[in-house]
Amino acid sequence: MSKNIDWSNLGFGYIKTENRFVSNYKDGAWDEGAITTDDMVVISECAGVLQYAQTCFEGLKAYRTEDGKVVCFRPDLNASRMVDSCERLEMPTFPEDKFVEAVEKVVQANLDYVPPYGSGATLYIRPYMFGSNPVIGVKPADEYQFRIFVTPVGPYFKGGAKPITIRVSDFDRAAPHGSGHIKAGLNYAMSLHAIVDAHNKGYAENLYLDPATRTKVEETGGANFIFITKDGKLVTPKSDSILPSITRRSLMYVAEHYLGMEVEHREVYLDELKDFAECGLCGTAAVISPVGKIDDHGTEICFPSGMEEMGPVTKKLYDTLTGIQMGRIEAPEGWIKVIAE
Ligand SMILES: *Cc1c(COP(=O)(O)O)cnc(C)c1O
Repeated sequence: MSKNIDWSNLGFGYIKTENRFVSNYKDGAWDEGAITTDDMVVISECAGVLQYAQTCFEGLKAYRTEDGKVVCFRPDLNASRMVDSCERLEMPTFPEDKFVEAVEKVVQANLDYVPPYGSGATLYIRPYMFGSNPVIGVKPADEYQFRIFVTPVGPYFKGGAKPITIRVSDFDRAAPHGSGHIKAGLNYAMSLHAIVDAHNKGYAENLYLDPATRTKVEETGGANFIFITKDGKLVTPKSDSILPSITRRSLMYVAEHYLGMEVEHREVYLDELKDFAECGLCGTAAVISPVGKIDDHGTEICFPSGMEEMGPVTKKLYDTLTGIQMGRIEAPEGWIKVIAE
């Protein structure tokens, strides 16, 4: 049985579902955690998260496969990335096996909200953690809450993925030796001004450069870059301040092992972008958004794949990865976690 939701007209927004998972950390230990219907968080006005932004999050999806199973994609990688985020923010880590179990529990408790196969819609899963007790002198909180809610979301691009135009940003996203490699809310708070400004000027996203030299490509506010060379190689930027996208890491594997492509994970310079054949942004939400044009302060870099459709190699990567996710193509060992048959 499915909820009475118009799956094909769903946007990418929050819809409250029946159940969420909550676990609390106190006196140095996590409690068992439980599913609850209570969607409200009640914390002190002085909670660490409200004063000093001590919070991090994850994002993944559950969906129905062609043969009717409910699955999610590589949740173990989200669990381990959240450990990295917590360690960098002096937060207690949530055990990785418990994280995957909690994802399973919360999806099972909201099965009616998993969109049907073929609708293009998915169930977005949002794990997050925050410091919950009062903190006024600057230090880590002593108490934390870990929560996971889910929300059904529509296809990221209605009517297919049209290439977008982005700009080289004058704002920076992440300092060298800073927090760019972790999934922290603080990285997003300071990107909001840049994205509003980009949208006001007609750009879909910001391309952030490395702040130290402003010569190398990092990523956008919430997605990693992939580039295709004219001779068909996949190139992805490497930097300590890029968030290690699970989609990007999966695409690198798919390119090499399913499509027989050469893959390079290396520093990518702004002045070599004009030589690439295709460009895309990758992340859980859209899998890949094709980029048709990059505006570098009035100089336009137009990719040969154009503004009408995804480049042919990008399309192959997209079709293969989404085929694996949806159960149409056999997945590498351990990539697909079955939650319900
Ligand atoms: C979440 C995120 C991504 C995409 O990562 P996925 O694991 O592929 O969803 C890329 N960049 C940033 C800054 C992110 O926060």
